[in-house]
Amino acid sequence: MFALCCGPASTVGASATPTASLPTVKVGVYENKPLVFRNTDDRFTGIAVDVLEYAARQEGWRIDYAPGAWADLLAKLENGELDLLVGIAYSEQRGRRFDFTTEDLVANWGVVYKKSKAPIASPLDLTDHKVALMRDSIHTRAFIKLLEQFDVSYVTVEARDYSEVFQLIHDGAADAGVVNRLYGRRNAVDYNVVATGIIFNPIHVHYAAPKGPDRGVIEALDRHLMALKQDKASVYYQALDHWLRVPPATIFPAWLQWTILALAGILMLSLLMSALLRRQVTLKTFELLSKSKELEKEVEERRSAQQRLNHLAYHDSLTGLPNRMSFHERFQVVMRDADQNGTKIAILFIDLDRLKTINDSLGHVAGDTLLTMVAKRLQSCLRGQDSINRFGGDEYIVMVSHINSVSDVDIVTKRLMDAFLKPFDVGAQEVYITASIGVALYPDDDRTIDGLLMDADAAMYSAKDQGRNRVQLYNREFTNRAVEQFGTESRLRRALAREELRLYYQPVIDIQNHRVVGLEALLRWDDPDRGMIAPDKFIALAEDTGLIMPIGEWVLERACTQLQNWHARFAGDLRVSVNISSRQFEHQHIVKSVETALKKSGLDPGMLELEITERIFLEPTEAVLSVLGALKAQGVHLSIDDFGTGYSSLGYLKQMPVDCLKIDRSFVRGIPADSDDTEITATIIAMAQNLHMAVVAEGIETREQLEYLRTKGCQFGQGFYIARPLPTEQVEEWLRSHIQSVPHPQQPTTVADKR
Ligand code: C2E
Ligand code: MG
Ligand code: MG
Repeated sequence: MFALCCGPASTVGASATPTASLPTVKVGVYENKPLVFRNTDDRFTGIAVDVLEYAARQEGWRIDYAPGAWADLLAKLENGELDLLVGIAYSEQRGRRFDFTTEDLVANWGVVYKKSKAPIASPLDLTDHKVALMRDSIHTRAFIKLLEQFDVSYVTVEARDYSEVFQLIHDGAADAGVVNRLYGRRNAVDYNVVATGIIFNPIHVHYAAPKGPDRGVIEALDRHLMALKQDKASVYYQALDHWLRVPPATIFPAWLQWTILALAGILMLSLLMSALLRRQVTLKTFELLSKSKELEKEVEERRSAQQRLNHLAYHDSLTGLPNRMSFHERFQVVMRDADQNGTKIAILFIDLDRLKTINDSLGHVAGDTLLTMVAKRLQSCLRGQDSINRFGGDEYIVMVSHINSVSDVDIVTKRLMDAFLKPFDVGAQEVYITASIGVALYPDDDRTIDGLLMDADAAMYSAKDQGRNRVQLYNREFTNRAVEQFGTESRLRRALAREELRLYYQPVIDIQNHRVVGLEALLRWDDPDRGMIAPDKFIALAEDTGLIMPIGEWVLERACTQLQNWHARFAGDLRVSVNISSRQFEHQHIVKSVETALKKSGLDPGMLELEITERIFLEPTEAVLSVLGALKAQGVHLSIDDFGTGYSSLGYLKQMPVDCLKIDRSFVRGIPADSDDTEITATIIAMAQNLHMAVVAEGIETREQLEYLRTKGCQFGQGFYIARPLPTEQVEEWLRSHIQSVPHPQQPTTVADKR
């Protein structure tokens, strides 16, 4: 159940509990398409659910759906067994029982449906007919009242939900039935039922929560609904457009058919009333007139929604650029033209470099603004006959026609690249961004549109691999490489299950006294076909595919268990360092993994050190800081790996809960010949000392390097000169001969003695 005490805000600080569990909101759901319903994957969806899930993502709630019959859900909401009920109409009586969102989700009303040929057009036609009514529905109550006013007697057939109402009409068990208009519009075709002109009870649909002082969920939903309604491209409008779309079997435009039926109903109703119940007709006509006005307004809204829908079908909602569908249609035209004139078409795949950094540091609103500004700027670089499209994400596709040679392409790509030279003003600040462009040519590289897009995409990836901010023409090699990469990915997926991953351990020593202080766990992949593969060859792929999550968990558990084993047997004070990828920071994943590894192995948290790349400290977001705090609260040590390669600012470092810096081996390599490297190394050592951080030099390969580092006051070091990364048995041997306290036949010894 929802409880603010376990909200995300309270788990993020350094003093918080280490396990971050999302607050759960228990939500009552039922079949009421398109507001809420179960789709073919057995998941709940619909307008009310889309908006709720959006709010949940923003608020960090976990949604627990509790399906049930409508009447049961109302009872459960009242006695607090549910936190929220979606798609509930507001009435005064309900307002006394529940807390409603102030903002409504949609307007709705009751409609009587019937079999297509049944002669039912007014309430009077229902006399002595069987009418299917859903229990406890607000429209059922309004319908009963309406027919009482007309003094019409009819037979009620009770239904559990709206789908049963339609099923009963379809099967002939009822002549007519009452559903809400949204449900009716969406589902009538499936049951072969049609709307009569009888409409009544305009209401507004909301979310409701149990009455009580804790209005957190309702207020958050209100906030999001209000913001979403301001933005025509928001999840809210997308959900309306998506779920209110009329099913294809309808021959007339939906709004037209509906309007005709509604107006015909109103007219017929008025006529019959005047003939039969003169006095009541006057009253009812007045009521109906005001409803008809509301109806006209709705019709107008539907018409403009329809227009928006048409626009959306061919355009990207964020930037307004033509989308994939337009692109495909336009390509057919341009291709015919190119074939006739013997010219070529260039397809340019433009991907922004590091948009994620901007999203993470300045927020998604700034990211979206940037995407729109880039779209405009790129568009201004193109000729009228060329087109720019966005399919989503941070990618733009440009189609340039009438190309005679590659030099024509150069002119366009140069103009496009130049568009990124000036900064973009995204509101809070100006940002610079670059792009990588891949180019494929029709008909040289491929004759199909999908093939060309894949080729341009592969060329774009190659541009990224070469360091980004460049243009790359497609070359057949790229496809081969992509195919090979796909093969590696499939094998890596199986490597975990087949136990092909290994950990090697590289000793870390105190270079002032040559004693072993710890071990760095380094991952290897023992591929049966290719032999032992170094992490540099597969970590990036594991990060891209998300495989780094299970792999990272495996590394942590294995390293902690191994160290605990060594502690028990002979090396009681050694620490183990484990490399952590920045992706493991997402969704606080690492916090849970560390907790599990420590619990399973029984290792003292102070004996575990996590090595985090400097990249993560460059622009630390709130989320990253909270993960670092949670890790520190668990008692583990944190170090910055490959320090010096990422330009961390001193100011940031001071605020970080970090215990140790590891000097990147590229600096150690230059010692003592390269004066820059020696100076940088000495500066990092001095800086670490000032910040009271430990410092480890990586990649020590010679005695001179070791000596230099020792004289500069660097305390710890690792490298081939001391020991290479070794598999478990060999490092055990190494440890036995280098740890003084080892109960081993050999004499106690230190690393220096061994050399
Ligand atoms: P790193 O964390 O900076 O690890 C040190 C790397 O330097 C290791 O490469 C090690 O073999 C190498 N090295 C140590 N001493 C010397 C030396 O004296 N000379 C030279 N030339 N190299 C030395 P390795 O094992 O290939 O690992 C490469 C990188 O892969 C690691 O760099 C680390 O960033 C990453 N990595 C390794 N294991 C894992 C893991 O379990 N998870 C993650 N996310 N990354 C890992
Ligand atoms: Mg490392
Ligand atoms: Mg390193």
